Amino acid sequence: MSELGFGMMRLPKVDGKIDLATTCEMVDTFLASGQNYFDTAYVYDGGESEIITGKAVVLRHDRDRFNLATKLPAKCLRDKSDRDRIFKTQTERLGTDHIDYYLLHSVEDGFNTRIYEGLDCFKWGEQKKRRGDIAKFGFSYHGTPELLEELLDKYPVDFVQIQYNYLDLDDPIIKSEKLLEILNKRKIPAFIMEPVKGGLLANLPGEIMRDYPETDPADVALRFVLEKPGIERILSGMSTPEQLKKNIKTFKDKRPLKAADLALLKSVRNYYGEKNLVSCTDCRYCLDSCPKNIRIPEVFKAYNSHLLYPNDNRAHYFYAGLIKDYAPAQDCIGCGNCKRSCPQHLDIPEILKKASTVLDHGPELE
Ligand code: SF4
Ligand code: SF4
Repeated sequence: MSELGFGMMRLPKVDGKIDLATTCEMVDTFLASGQNYFDTAYVYDGGESEIITGKAVVLRHDRDRFNLATKLPAKCLRDKSDRDRIFKTQTERLGTDHIDYYLLHSVEDGFNTRIYEGLDCFKWGEQKKRRGDIAKFGFSYHGTPELLEELLDKYPVDFVQIQYNYLDLDDPIIKSEKLLEILNKRKIPAFIMEPVKGGLLANLPGEIMRDYPETDPADVALRFVLEKPGIERILSGMSTPEQLKKNIKTFKDKRPLKAADLALLKSVRNYYGEKNLVSCTDCRYCLDSCPKNIRIPEVFKAYNSHLLYPNDNRAHYFYAGLIKDYAPAQDCIGCGNCKRSCPQHLDIPEILKKASTVLDHGPELE
């Protein structure tokens, strides 16, 4: 049966900074529930996530009570020496001498894989494992099924982390179902990220939920993934103690999906299929690379809000507040830097053009 993993990417914040006290409270509740896996990365919150994970988990609990996972980022690698330099920084930030699960971050058909292969990172990971610096080695994956097969033919790994939720199963780009099938066929444990698609499946529109007043949509999304074979861990980026407790309960109860749950899944898939929403998961990987300081995920939130509720001004009010501090979508110069970082393969400049048509030329607000 799959276990819950604590994703340290969306930790609680106060005044824009990670709230250490609330994070500690959540970590303690998580460990007390019997769960033990913490997933961070070198780039999460500009490195702050690893530091806070060190303070909230490693410093405060026995090292053999938990598993730590973190990731090597392609975009920070210039030459082979960077691999060990970054690894050393990570162990210092985390306050540990070894990492239980180490991943190459966001392997895909393009820039990241060229870097990882060009700098021999797959073999380097194996060597780190033989030396005992890493217990298990794998990668997080956002590429095609074809590339996944090719990489697994070439490199032995202990696990692969893929995006999987009930909306992305047959997404023409993400193809989650196929990716899971490949891992199951090869008996490689699958670790799942985005089971509630960056929160989208936890906060469903009122017009859907009207028909399911008793249902918790996040619970249904997690139970959908829990029923799938070959999955060792399901990661959830939890931001509040309440969210954490709800997730723990879902994993403890492990209730099978009922007819009403399946009907909800069908309604949601139909609903979002028709709206053609931007499938941004708010991972924020694109933000560092934008020379114009456009807050890309927030622009997409406003645009999605417009697609969902075209007849009211909520998207325009949100956007008006956003561009007081950041550049508007119309300032995009189409340089394409952001596209390279996007694990969802979004054509960000093109979508920004569409969003700008709606948002930069919206109604006069009072
Ligand atoms: S394409 Fe536009 S949004 Fe993307 S990095 Fe360049 S300026 Fe920023
Ligand atoms: S646009 Fe892509 S990279 Fe940027 S936050 Fe959304 S999913 Fe992440």
